[in-house]
Amino acid sequence: MLTVEQAQSLVMAEVSTLPAEPVALAEAHGRVLRETVTAMSDLPPADNSAMDGYAVRADDVANAPVRLRVAGDIAAGHPAADALERGTAMRIMTGAFVPAGADAVVQVELTDGATDVVTIHTAVARGANIRPRGEDMCAGDVLLDRGVRIGAAELAVLAAAQKSSVMVGRRPTVAILSTGDELVDIGEALEPGKIINTNASLLAALVHDVGPIPRVLGIVRDTKDATIAAFDEALRSDFVISSGGVSVGAYDFVKDALEALGAETKFWRVAMKPGKPVVLSRRGERLIFGLPGNPVSCLVSFHLFAAPALRKAMGQVGRLFPSIVNARVTAALRSPGDRRVYVRVAVGAVEGELHARPLTSQGSGSLTSMLGANGLAIVEIGTTRVDEGARLPVVLIGAL
Ligand code: AMP
Ligand code: MG
Repeated sequence: MLTVEQAQSLVMAEVSTLPAEPVALAEAHGRVLRETVTAMSDLPPADNSAMDGYAVRADDVANAPVRLRVAGDIAAGHPAADALERGTAMRIMTGAFVPAGADAVVQVELTDGATDVVTIHTAVARGANIRPRGEDMCAGDVLLDRGVRIGAAELAVLAAAQKSSVMVGRRPTVAILSTGDELVDIGEALEPGKIINTNASLLAALVHDVGPIPRVLGIVRDTKDATIAAFDEALRSDFVISSGGVSVGAYDFVKDALEALGAETKFWRVAMKPGKPVVLSRRGERLIFGLPGNPVSCLVSFHLFAAPALRKAMGQVGRLFPSIVNARVTAALRSPGDRRVYVRVAVGAVEGELHARPLTSQGSGSLTSMLGANGLAIVEIGTTRVDEGARLPVVLIGAL
């Protein structure tokens, strides 16, 4: 059976990057940048004041306390028309351009704040409280490389680079199929034997969080014909993610249906718990992830295999896989030892150290055990017992 890392390598080897498209800057949040962005101009565009205070020559205040005539008032956005004359000061606000002739700003707190003749109480060094032109960026500097996911900080830098439109990776469409005769949609009668299709909501949200466009195609009945018809339709999307029907049950048709449609199975079992039966299949340019039906298995295998593939398809470079941190477990754990186990944990900092609290129910069908789980603690194959307080690697699947 494949290890998780082997399966992840096989997945990544199958993924190609989708084309790029231009979008307006306001639409770029959460997308992957597909161009190198350079600065158009210097930022700040001129030396400007970091404080509210008085623009002076450092030499003129070297013998402070001194009194200087206030020759003008410079507000942000309104550069002074004249240069600063020797032996005078100009009142200046934060962000306002420093007038020619001045080489320091004395913050208002070190003066009497007067507007006609100001008393400067303290000497300042040349350059004090001045943000030099180009300190943040200089025209021509490379600001962002292709492959970066665009978050709030990237958007601000793109705006500074005056990018009203940017090239980003196309958002892949991801068809979501829920296989199972037992499934009904919300609002349908829960006849005996039926359960609500919760994986569709789970997977659509997971896909959306990564960036692609989820297309929920609904419930697929457990017959080979219905499964073939559903996948045939689903294969119009860039990716297909299904849940259920990948185990060895008599009504598990996903693998057979995909093969009947001419798809090639790349793997269908990974040495992990939860989530051992995971199918990766390919038809032409399309990749199909057949995830297990148990909601938790679905969640875990999505994060380990599908999410990195979707990131790569959008053109992301680096940070494709979830981060792994070390954390101290707050309770002892038992494990079968025959496979690697991913234990749902709530990770948080306690006095500067990461702690991982195992969630009480670890059944792979337990929806409520996913609540508050922002990490998956890894118990390696061969380990049957982990002591309270031991450090384990934890895959982060949510914010700390
Ligand atoms: P399967 O992988 O098809 O054998 O399903 C494994 C378990 O997951 C069974 O208990 C199913 O009832 C459950 N399951 C399968 N699909 C879903 C779904 N879409 N929503 C919630 N539970 C599901
Ligand atoms: Mg099933």
